[in-house]
Amino acid sequence: MTARILVVDDVPANVKLLEARLSAEYYEVVTASDGYEALEICDTSNVDVILLDVMMPGLDGFEVCRRLKTSPSTAHIPVILVTALDQDSDRITGLNFGADDFLTKPVNDLQLLARVKSLVRLKNLTDELRLRVATTRDVGLESILRFPAGGEGLKNARILLIDERPESVERIRRILGDQGSVDVQTDPQMGFIDAIQGNHDCLIIASNFAAFDPLRICAQLRSLDNTRSLPIVLVADQGEETLIRRALELGVNDYLIRPLNPNELLARLRTQLRRKAYHDGLRASVVKTYELAVTDSLTGLHNRLYLETHLATLFKRAVDRQRPLSILMTDIDRFKLINDTHGHDGGDEVLREFARRLRRNVRGSDLASRYGGEEFFIVMPDTDAALAAIVAERIRREVASTPFAVNQLGTSVPVTISIGIASVMPKDDNVQSLLKRADEALYGAKASGRNKVVSAAA
Ligand code: GH3
Ligand code: MG
Ligand code: MG
Repeated sequence: MTARILVVDDVPANVKLLEARLSAEYYEVVTASDGYEALEICDTSNVDVILLDVMMPGLDGFEVCRRLKTSPSTAHIPVILVTALDQDSDRITGLNFGADDFLTKPVNDLQLLARVKSLVRLKNLTDELRLRVATTRDVGLESILRFPAGGEGLKNARILLIDERPESVERIRRILGDQGSVDVQTDPQMGFIDAIQGNHDCLIIASNFAAFDPLRICAQLRSLDNTRSLPIVLVADQGEETLIRRALELGVNDYLIRPLNPNELLARLRTQLRRKAYHDGLRASVVKTYELAVTDSLTGLHNRLYLETHLATLFKRAVDRQRPLSILMTDIDRFKLINDTHGHDGGDEVLREFARRLRRNVRGSDLASRYGGEEFFIVMPDTDAALAAIVAERIRREVASTPFAVNQLGTSVPVTISIGIASVMPKDDNVQSLLKRADEALYGAKASGRNKVVSAAA
């Protein structure tokens, strides 16, 4: 997974060193020797991860970070602060300025590549989601795309800890204190089951169990839909570089090495939670816009786009499994007259009420959709022509028997519909000819006087 990394440091030798290491891993590296230059590059080109020196003349790293994180166009770019001092106070300052991660000079190779890789992965996901949200017109887009500021902490976080050593569990509990709630599982199998319930915001997992490989859990969690984006933080021991490397390859998001530094643990958890909240928000918005794209806004039924896509799937499944499938094509009779008499709004009211009656008269597995204008489609899996005729007749009667209320005028309008039925044929059939047969049957219903159900010849 390649990416464009910006390295910022006022000491040329430091820039060269990081540049060489990252280039060796096939990252594209751009460099800047001061904060202004760094901001300029981020504003004018695409950067995936920033390695930012803290101590620089002019704008220091904290200030650069603050400016990046407060600008909507750059706030989502991950920032790794590189500090010469291994001091907690620096880390906390950096965190308050919105930094995503830290590295201490001299920079350790494994740490450098692990942090960069995990942030590149997150950045790719972020970009993908941002793109999908941005390409669909959505209200409140700006607020959805804005990366959250770092302040919320762990307060409402639900953390799952899988660790079988009591003293280690105690230590982590003490560090977390009353920030967030911690569920502990000492049995890794039980921990896995807990994790897939999907009630947690983050998983902390120990690297060593007496008789269990924790990476197995990590791999499984990554392959399951509802835990794919669960942040996983591995707590490892000194000397476990190989294991850490494998864990990161499997998609573990971050790691810490014992003895645990309390501020580092808290900082890394906060970063993971912030990312997760951001991604969850983007993802929900993608789902929402997808739903809007396939929903008819007047009736709330599926629209033509959805029908056409889904009908193809249902048709294929019916043929593959040799199961029946029928479709109803319905059209409101003399709808133009309703519009002319009761106005366009009155017509809309009729369409909405028709959709409600339709919904009441089909099964959950049936697909009811508005094909356009006053034409509706119902796709009924596992339904042969005879059963389809019964359903169609029920719908026809449901419409014709009770006039539709057109609210604002307090009047009611008699409405009738015509329905054409077609069913999948056992041989040489396809979606197009199925639709064509339904259309012809509907035409037959109209021609024979309307308020009729006609089945296509088998
Ligand atoms: P038939 O019995 O042959 O189906 O006659 P009809 O009048 O229903 O058919 P026609 O296709 O001539 O007219 C359909 C009308 O539906 C014309 C169009 O203006 C109206 N229409 C289409 N979409 C909407 C809509 O969303 N709201 C309203 N109120 N009217 C619509
Ligand atoms: Mg410096
Ligand atoms: Mg009509």
